[in-house]
Amino acid sequence: MLNLNFHPAGRHFLQIPGPSPVPDRLLRAMSYPTIDHRGPEFGALGRQVLAGIRRIFRTQHPVVIYPASGTGAWEAALANTLSPGDAVLMFETGHFATLWNRMALRLGLQPEFLRYEGTDPHLPEAPGWRHGVQAGQIEERLRRDPQHAIKAVCVVHNETSTGVTSDIAAVRRAIDAAGHPALLMVDTISGLASADYRHDEWGVDVTVSGSQKGLMLPPGISFNALSPKAVAASKTATLPRSFWAWDEIIEMNRTGYWPYTPNTNLLYALSEAIAMIEAEGLEQVFARHQRLAAACRAAVQAWGLEVQCADPAVYSPVLTGVLLPQGVDADKVREAVYRHFNMSLGAGLGKVKGRMFRIGHLGECNDLSLVAALGGCEMGLKLAGVRLRESGTLAALEHLGRTAARQDRG
Ligand code: PLP
Repeated sequence: MLNLNFHPAGRHFLQIPGPSPVPDRLLRAMSYPTIDHRGPEFGALGRQVLAGIRRIFRTQHPVVIYPASGTGAWEAALANTLSPGDAVLMFETGHFATLWNRMALRLGLQPEFLRYEGTDPHLPEAPGWRHGVQAGQIEERLRRDPQHAIKAVCVVHNETSTGVTSDIAAVRRAIDAAGHPALLMVDTISGLASADYRHDEWGVDVTVSGSQKGLMLPPGISFNALSPKAVAASKTATLPRSFWAWDEIIEMNRTGYWPYTPNTNLLYALSEAIAMIEAEGLEQVFARHQRLAAACRAAVQAWGLEVQCADPAVYSPVLTGVLLPQGVDADKVREAVYRHFNMSLGAGLGKVKGRMFRIGHLGECNDLSLVAALGGCEMGLKLAGVRLRESGTLAALEHLGRTAARQDRG
């Protein structure tokens, strides 16, 4: 039998940028009995979550819910709207943008991967992984496509591998300024319900997201939020698709059902998560994330280390990447933190493996859990022999104390 009872006293600190800690309230909701997915109660649940999730994406249009991880919803976005050999413009912001680009290749598309053109003394091997999407480069490239061969622009909103966001409204403006009809597809798998996101207002055609980040659910649900233009594109697109096909799902969703067996118990949790987020208020949820992120950056700066994101305009409210000095193995720090303080931190992925670690401060996170997490990081850094300028934990305490907000309600 699987032994999950390996933690010492106290809760494990799951400070990776997703899966994020699942609140007890959601775990309890998931423990309700599984019901008949063709019965009347299920239809009511389905209609409720489908309406609620639109409010979270801030869209009036359909949101398709898949029983899959985020990677599945990436594939769904491409397979529903594009045809073999279509040119697609993508931007290398980090590991997840790279994986989406690889998926496009494997599906038989022709992705073109734009890159940040600057240099960086702290991360010469991947300077672009410290910046967001450069909308100007997208506009310039689209202007050089008068025949409109490029069918879609695909970007990552919150690059979970780096802690850098991208200005999606600016990408929309770039596409419009070039007068180009390409679809805009955005991955906000780790941004939804943590970072400000507006599917309709920003003119996004397909938004891809997942359950295990800001929504605070376990992994296992992912989303495609659509625009009418995306739905129209799906009528003529010819990439093969069956399980991912929007048409049958949208049709059955009208009455709250799915064409296959949905993951009922995760939908209970989704319904509860939407209620929790709306009780706090979406704007307050975003403000809480911004404030915690600022406190976390204050800690990193006090330690005398570099925040991975080099552009303050696009600091992620969801996670903070911590770049370590050349020669220090970031995985040793994570290992020390795990072994001694029962806390998981995000690893450096792909090009930044061993160069940085990531602190998640998303979802079920508050002042005191962040302070504890930073305390663990600080002790782990010292155990791994990293010289720190001063206490980052104290700097974060200062920040949080100065900006403290009343938490009582009602
Ligand atoms: N895109 C981003 C930005 C992510 O953070 C992740 C996962 O962390 C993915 C895509 C892939 O999602 P999943 O691992 O749920 O398939």
